[in-house]
Formats: sequence, C-alpha cells, structure tokens
Amino acid sequence: MNQKESMTKPRVAILGLGIMGGGMASRLLSNGYNVAVYNRNPEKAATLSSAGALVAASPREAASHADVVISMVADDVASRNVWLGEKGALAGAARGSVLIESSTLTVGWIKELARAAAQQGCEFLDAPVTGTKPHAASGELLFMVGGSDSALAAAQPVLSVLGREVNHLGPTGSGALMKLINNFMCGVQAASFAEAVTMINAGGLDQERAVSILTNGAPGSGIVKRAAARVAANDYTPDFLLRLMAKDLGYAIDQASQTGLDLQTASSALAVFKQAIAKGYGDEDFSAVVKAFRRD
Ligand code: NAP
Repeated sequence: MNQKESMTKPRVAILGLGIMGGGMASRLLSNGYNVAVYNRNPEKAATLSSAGALVAASPREAASHADVVISMVADDVASRNVWLGEKGALAGAARGSVLIESSTLTVGWIKELARAAAQQGCEFLDAPVTGTKPHAASGELLFMVGGSDSALAAAQPVLSVLGREVNHLGPTGSGALMKLINNFMCGVQAASFAEAVTMINAGGLDQERAVSILTNGAPGSGIVKRAAARVAANDYTPDFLLRLMAKDLGYAIDQASQTGLDLQTASSALAVFKQAIAKGYGDEDFSAVVKAFRRD
C-alpha cells in the first residue's frame, strides 16, 4: 500500500488488546491502516508495535491520534476506565470523531457513555460482535450496531475491514441489547451441554458416541458443536473466557429484569458457570464449563 492510500483511510485507535482487540488491531494494520493502540498492561502491545502500531501510554493519547476510536475491553468497569477514567479516551477525542464501543456491556452503561460522547461533540456507536479469536484477526466478525445513520456511515469503512456483516439494529443500546440476548442463549446451551456430558458419564454411556449423537442431531447448535470439539480435544485454551460468558449471563439477567422478565434459563446457566469459576476455570475457554460438575 502506498502513502497516498494510507492517508485517505481514517486513523483508528484500539483500546484493549486482549483476545479480540489484539486481533482487530492486527487486522487493521495488515490492511494498511494507521493504528494507535492502548492496553492497561502495556506488554500486550509489543507485537503490534513491531507491526507498525503507535503504542499510546493512555487511552487519551491513543484517541488523540485517531478519527475512529474502538474500545474492546472486558466489562462495564473496564469500559468506564478507558473512556472516562483519568487520561480516558473521551478527553483526547477530537470533535467529530467516531467512538465505537465493541465490548459486550450493559445497555444502561452504553446509554450513559453515548451521552458523554455527545457532550464532547463525537459520534457514538455501540457495536458489539459475534465471532471469536480467529474471526477478529481475519475480519470476519459480525457487528450488531446501535446508533445514528450518520455515525454508522462514518464508521462503515473501518467496520467493513473488521467484519463480514454489519447489522444496524436501531438507536443507541440496540446493539448491546442484541448481543446480551445472543450470549445468554449461548451460555444456556453451553451449560446444558455441561449437564448432558455429566449425565452421559454418570450413566456409563460412551462419551464420544453420545456427544456425536447430540452434535449431529437437533441439539447440535454452533455453540454446542464448538464446546464438543473442545471437550474431544481436551483443550480449553481460551478463545472466549469462561468468566466473560458468566459476565454476559449476569448482564442479560439484569437487563431482562428491567422489563419485568425473569430469565430463568439464564439464571440456571449462570449458577453452572459460577460453579466452574469456583473450581478455578474462569480463565479457561467458556467450554470448560463442562468441568463444573467434576468431583476433583
Ligand atoms: P480479554 O482477552 O480478557 O481482554 C480484556 C481486555 O480488557 C484486556 O485488554 C484487558 O486489559 C482489558 N481490561 C480488563 N479490565 C480492565 C480495566 N479494569 N481497565 C482497563 N482495561 C481493562 O477479553 P476479549 O475476549 O478480548 O473480550 C473483550 C470484549 O469482547 C468482552 O466484553 C467480551 O465479552 C467481548 N467478546 C469476546 C469474544 C471472544 O470470543 N473472546 C467474542 C465476542 C465478544 P489487560 O490486558 O491489562 O488485562
């Protein structure tokens, strides 16, 4: 890519270089974008620095180098820190820049953040994603977007490099809400798979054959198939941390309760995930929830 092409692309800042943010930053760099990065633990920026990223010492500094700022951090607390904390990104963002929150967060926090962005004269989108580690690195995410048409139009060139699909669901908070609905169903299916595997083993069935019947039959959703593959390989290296799935279940339960809906299946699934966390599996892949009932 020549210098002229690079100058016509918006400059992007990525806040949070975990499993997802790290892949997104590297995808943008390999597509010729100028990228500034920030991570609380600066060690995670090392490989991106070698790939040409500007490593910022604070979210504010990262945002000051960008036309589009994307946050991809763990939870509401982390998001508040990177946007509004001391040296937060909002203080460094230029008027008219586009701020995108892609983490899976509560609708309430997203609306508060959108108001803060508007006061700063910035466009704002909530744009959480489906897809996991490999999809982040290869530009195959699916974005669920809330916000104005004008904000989305400004963000579109960057989102198209990061994702294979951009779904505009409505005003601010719509993307966050959709993502919580998506993930609570994933969490419920993973927890039920954990119970199924435990039942298979307690009943003395051949695990491989029994799981194959489930995954090739009606219960074989994408999430169950993914979990089954991890169980077969006995590999729980995280693509999506178990404790973050528990976070999403909790956020979905709170969100639903605000409209008088008791998410009973999500509450049961969250109890299973909490049991897995209590056994020390919170930093493994979410599929390690199958180990929640192990007697060890
Ligand atoms: P991750 O690997 O655990 O990365 C979390 C990031 O958040 C790290 O950069 C971490 O910084 C930062 N962070 C955590 N607490 C912080 C705090 N208090 N202040 C500032 N920064 C903080 O998680 P991930 O898998 O990339 O997920 C990021 C977001 O995407 C989450 O909301 C997750 O639910 C969502 N998501 C994940 C997937 C997936 O498959 N992984 C898919 C869709 C959506 P440090 O490195 O300093 O800890």
